Amino acid sequence: MTLIYQSTRDAKNTATASQAILKGLATDGGLYTPTVFPEISLDFNQLKDLSYQDIAKKILSAFLDDFTPEEIAYCVSNAYDDKFDTELIAPIVKLNGQYHLELFHGSTIAFKDMALSILPYLMTTAAKKQGVDNKIVILTATSGDTGKAAMAGFADVPGTEIFVFYPKNGVSRIQELQMVTQEGENTHVLAIDGNFDDAQTSVKNMFNDEELRDLLLEKGIQFSSANSMNIGRLVPQIVYYVYAYAQLLKQGEIDNGELINFSVPTGNFGNILAAFYASKIGVPIGKLICASNENNVLTDFFNTATYDKNRPFKVTTSPSMDILVSSNLERLVFHLVGNDATKTRELMAQLANEGSYQLPVKEASILNLFAAGFANQEQTSQDIARVYLENHYVEDPHTAVASSVYKDYQEKTKDTTKTVVVSTASPYKFPTVVVKALERTSITDDFEAVKKLKKLSQIVIPKAVDGIEKAPIRHQTTIATKDMKETVERYLGL
Ligand SMILES: *Cc1c(COP(=O)(O)O)cnc(C)c1O
Repeated sequence: MTLIYQSTRDAKNTATASQAILKGLATDGGLYTPTVFPEISLDFNQLKDLSYQDIAKKILSAFLDDFTPEEIAYCVSNAYDDKFDTELIAPIVKLNGQYHLELFHGSTIAFKDMALSILPYLMTTAAKKQGVDNKIVILTATSGDTGKAAMAGFADVPGTEIFVFYPKNGVSRIQELQMVTQEGENTHVLAIDGNFDDAQTSVKNMFNDEELRDLLLEKGIQFSSANSMNIGRLVPQIVYYVYAYAQLLKQGEIDNGELINFSVPTGNFGNILAAFYASKIGVPIGKLICASNENNVLTDFFNTATYDKNRPFKVTTSPSMDILVSSNLERLVFHLVGNDATKTRELMAQLANEGSYQLPVKEASILNLFAAGFANQEQTSQDIARVYLENHYVEDPHTAVASSVYKDYQEKTKDTTKTVVVSTASPYKFPTVVVKALERTSITDDFEAVKKLKKLSQIVIPKAVDGIEKAPIRHQTTIATKDMKETVERYLGL
């Protein structure tokens, strides 16, 4: 049986997995979403002895079922190789009172690598399967980490070109340097004068621009997306939730079938949505804790069933979560209203027009799976210090948000279920924030902070950061948000 992905805004707009990956976004502005989940037997007594790659093959084959096993194996083995600095790919660390699932062992030291190291293979394979020989142009809005990870995957991949838009004043120094030093003839990095939501909205508008689409097709070009709106980003993220459960079982930390919680630092709702899909295929999950920073629109959504983005946008110490329009929530909303595309389209129109909507909840069983909370910057900083003091382990600020929100949740609910904090970046990506939290000194230079962090953490400085301050700058254009489309057209020679 071929699994069908349906647009969240139009029941008639459907695609197979490879079609959905190639398109990225549905042309009606919706997101391709599974309406039924693959039946897959997760026998953890068996899974616990499998490698990350073998679990990936199993999960990907089930969700991307119009790919052949050979195609999946090709994509998996090229993605999860020695680009990762550990054979485990996503190791679990046991700390005092919580486990950390480390998703930052890939080439750009943030969790985006988990999916973006495989997406280029999935996309070029999908193009071959579909007999598409158009040039594929990837448009990416980034809050700091997606951009670099996407370019690391797509740089010099034949038949592709990639544009990355990031908020000029909304990323860390290291994140910015990682992007502007990116090599590859097919890469374009552009800073914009707006915030992440502005970048994401303009990218979505370009996708939905029919005139532009026709113009591109005449030139043999089509757009696709490397954001988590692409189902090819989401499905590879399900893998590590299955793997985490299998590893905990293998290490004797849990019994087979025992429920566990995940606390997930959330921005665009991609990572935690993958956790929800993992629960749908049978990973025993008690609660999914949705952890936000001061841009706490999701905390309010889960607590009041109202989404309201009419509030000030805050630049925080966890920039990859500085988001007020959380794209992937649309998929959860679609499930919450009973996979009703008409209703979802109405709600999304309200969001676009009024900046808010109220959820007419139908599927309470889905809502009950989630808990939500947020941590402000002081709480985040305190958690970095606490975890270091208790474990001599250094968290990055995004992970610290999830850890702090979990602590709060645990104190309030007395829920003693074993909990995995999803650890999304290496502390080396945000060194000044981390060193400030640990030493309570004011330090402003990222590279001074890297040296200090090495002393404090005793962790080798990752390749992704080492020497980056001396690498040649290859991209230095800043544009106005309103000129994004015009810039893309000019670069593509339209
Ligand atoms: C992208 C990112 C997040 C948020 O993930 P979403 O899938 O957008 O919810 C959290 N932490 C880090 C370090 C990230 O790069």
